[in-house]
Formats: sequence, structure tokens, C-alpha cells
Amino acid sequence: MTNYTETRPVIVCDGLVKIYKVADLEVVALQGLDLVVEPGEFVAIVGASGSGKSTLLNILGGLDTPSAGTVHVAGIDLLNMTPRQRTRYRRSVIGFIRQQTSRNLFPYLNAVENVELPMIIDGRPSREWRGRAMELLDLVGMSHRPRHRPHQLSGGEQQRVAIAVALANGPSVLFADEPTGELDEGTSSEIFETLKRVNETGTTIVVVTHDPLVAQHVKRTVAIRDGRTSSETLRWTEVDEQGEHRLMAEEYVVLDRVGRMQLPHEYIEAIGLKNRVRLTLDPDHVNVWPDREQRGE
Ligand code: ADP
Ligand code: MG
Repeated sequence: MTNYTETRPVIVCDGLVKIYKVADLEVVALQGLDLVVEPGEFVAIVGASGSGKSTLLNILGGLDTPSAGTVHVAGIDLLNMTPRQRTRYRRSVIGFIRQQTSRNLFPYLNAVENVELPMIIDGRPSREWRGRAMELLDLVGMSHRPRHRPHQLSGGEQQRVAIAVALANGPSVLFADEPTGELDEGTSSEIFETLKRVNETGTTIVVVTHDPLVAQHVKRTVAIRDGRTSSETLRWTEVDEQGEHRLMAEEYVVLDRVGRMQLPHEYIEAIGLKNRVRLTLDPDHVNVWPDREQRGE
């Protein structure tokens, strides 16, 4: 395994901007996105359709470049890679899983051959191929179907094999863009359990999803809104007096480098905040009050 073992963050995105030009029109897909992921984390990225999730993941996966900002993965500056380094990055520093099950596997290769292919391309010794591929199929719960070709497998089974393929060269980070987008609820849940098991072996995972149920599977959910990280939910389990494990969750708003944050819409509406708010500082927290004039005081 070539897992990134340093204690520094494995992903650092700083002020990422991505502008797509379509004819005379500019689409701002990311507008100053910040994200830090520590080694070993399992992070889910959620957000409405069009919020910039795929754009972010394609940049992190080395498939696209940002218009501005910086991005480092496993200590590598993604904006300063030679074509050769980019190929190596995509082949062995990271693993990538797409939503479309059919795009992750070669149709004319069976499951174990699909997992071996990245190792062959990476120039690993041939004696490692079969054993390692079978180990990975075992990890994702597919060691009973090594000779099945993709069309002989269900969508969920194909995604499991895709996870094994993505892990073939021992990447530091696994990226998955809506890996369960084409699957039913039960199968999606199984895929997330599989990803959890992979994460427990030490691989950092960043998965994009629109499925609110993923919340139950990951410790950290990052919400993207309008091309920026807007809020985060952290989850952990606590043991109460009766010895019962309870799932705890706390929502955080993201504060950017210059101190800006976005208040949730419900809060703004609940007390009619508008244009101007009053801030007061207490020893351990900050209060936000409506403008006195607006309330007619
Ligand atoms: P998500 O994955 O969250 O649904 P995307 O990252 O795919 O969002 O898209 C973010 C925005 O960028 C959308 O407005 C989308 O239409 C636009 N966009 C994405 N890819 C392209 C592209 N290749 N050319 C032009 N606009 C794009
Ligand atoms: Mg998308």
C-alpha cells in the first residue's frame, strides 16, 4: 500500500473557483470553496443538483482544473502536475468511482481481471496480481463471483467490483461521485457499509451523494450550496447511563478564512433578520440580533 501516512491534512482546497464558459455565457460552478480533510476520514458531500459537487470531485480526481484557488491532495499540488504526474496521480494516488455503474468496469473483462488491470498498467509484479485482486474482491464481498463479467452482475455488485478496482493500487484517497445514484435503497445501504469497511482499513474516502440516508453512515457530512461549503454535520456515538449507545449529531456552519458565514434560512425567517444584524460578544459565544430600526423599536 502506498497510503499517505503523514499527519497533515490529506486534502486541502483553498478558495476554489471554477467557471465554465458556454458560448458567451459564464457558469460559476465553484465560488471560493474551502475544504480540509484529515487522513482516515470518511466524508460525505451533499447538496442540491447543480451545487458544484461533481465539479469539485472532478478537480480532486485530477480530471479537471480549477479557474482559481489551490488544491493539494496527499501533499501533491494538483495545479502543478506534468501530464506524466497527472497520469500517475489518477492511477495510483487516488481511486475514482463514477455514478454510472457501466462506466467503471470494462465489459469484456471479468471481475477479477477488472481489478488486476490497474495493477498491470501500473507495472506491479505479475505474481501479485491474482492474489491481491482476490483479496480486494473479498474486502468488498465479491470473492464468490470472480469470473462474472459486468453484464452478469447486478448494479450493486458492479459497484462493489468498481470499489475493488479503485483500490487496486492502494490509493491514499477514494473519491466516489454518487456511487449509489442508480441503485435502490437497500443496495445503496450495502454499498455504504462496504465503503465503511474500506475506510476502516485506513483509506480516506470522499463520497458525493444526494441521499439523505448516508447521514447514518458517515461521521462528517459537508453541505455545498452555490459552489461553497455552507454547513457541516458531525456525528458520534455516546453511551448513556443505561449503557445504551446513542447517535449524536451536531450541525456547524462553515466560517471562511475572512470570517464570513451563512446563516440558515430557517433562522433568518424565524426572527425576521434582514439587511443588517447586530452582533454581541459573550465570553464563549456570539449573539445575532435583528436590527432595532426594522423592528420599530
Ligand atoms: P452537481 O454535481 O452538484 O449536480 P455540477 O458540479 O455538475 O453540480 O454542476 C455545477 C454547475 O456547473 C451547474 O450549474 C452545471 O450546469 C454547471 N456545469 C457543470 N459542468 C459543466 C460543463 N462542462 N460546462 C458548463 N457548465 C457546467
Ligand atoms: Mg453531480
